[in-house]
Amino acid sequence: MWRAERRLALIYDDEYLEHEQHPTHPERRERLSYTLDRLREEGVLEVEGVDLVEPEPADREDIELVHDPDHVELIRRMSEQGGGVIDADTAVTERTYEQALLAAGGSILAVELVVKGEYDVAFAMVRPPGHHAGRAKAAGFCYFNNAAIATEYAIQELDVERVAILDWDAHHGDGTQEIFYDRDDVLYVSIHQDGRTLYPGTGFPHEVGEGDGEGYTVNIPVPPGSGDETYRRAFREIIDPVVREYDPDLILISAGQDCHFTDPITNLAVTARGYEWMMRRAVELAEDVDALGPVAVLEGGYSVEDGLPYTNMAVICGLAGLPTDLKEPAGVPDENPEGPKRVKEVARQLSEYWESLRRRA
Ligand SMILES: [Zn+2]
Repeated sequence: MWRAERRLALIYDDEYLEHEQHPTHPERRERLSYTLDRLREEGVLEVEGVDLVEPEPADREDIELVHDPDHVELIRRMSEQGGGVIDADTAVTERTYEQALLAAGGSILAVELVVKGEYDVAFAMVRPPGHHAGRAKAAGFCYFNNAAIATEYAIQELDVERVAILDWDAHHGDGTQEIFYDRDDVLYVSIHQDGRTLYPGTGFPHEVGEGDGEGYTVNIPVPPGSGDETYRRAFREIIDPVVREYDPDLILISAGQDCHFTDPITNLAVTARGYEWMMRRAVELAEDVDALGPVAVLEGGYSVEDGLPYTNMAVICGLAGLPTDLKEPAGVPDENPEGPKRVKEVARQLSEYWESLRRRA
């Protein structure tokens, strides 16, 4: 039997399958149920050192570390009253409030288990996702910002001083950016499909943070059609040097697997192997800078049958250091050659804030 190189906590609760806005909504239960089927088939859940761990719902105070009490109350009351609509993509049902508390609780638990040394790495396989939720706003399938709540919990309750959040979801994490925009104890690095071509339309290189946080928001927009080569370059030429220079105590990953070439709502060309490579690099990076983690929190990924079970597997095997035999769905597209060029441009634009990028320019 396989043995994990790193002890991995997979945070999961069957209640995460019950969240449903509508049966045909892209953010649907099969996102997780098919991933679990795959993990079981591949024997990952029997690997020594890999454990499924059940979360508890977050306390309301934990949610309010990040969100306005009025926002929390709005979601609670909408659920209590049977539900309602927030935007075209985001509806509340009578169970949303409890489910969002459980997703936040799972993300907090992932951080807690790693910071306390019970596990080396963790993946919070939660629904609903969180990175579009701002301080006082639910949006884009998100109600409470799981990654931001877990980060703030680490800082306030677990004495972690500096956190680097790497957000590789195909969409820009506008909520997370907003929450930490004026902070220098949280580095927010996002690589995403260019906002001129995809929701939510933000995340340009000139959005760098403000006040104490100036320079500590790093946005890497890439053009439609960007694939593994572009993402590898972004890692080597921006993400790796910037995170090393920042020297975090904890690395958290907003792990959205919707950059996969089969994803139905985005236009990128990353493969499952590309995801595996990124996670292995993130693990090395954490080791090199002596940071805790990575702790991954599930965000998007909508290629429910084709890409997502494999990309989630890739993330999990990368975290635990397990061998993989990832099957790529047919039809890997050619990459947009503009992707690597754009990465170079962005590195130049950000070099004003990062010595490590100036040296490379
Ligand atoms: Zn996304």
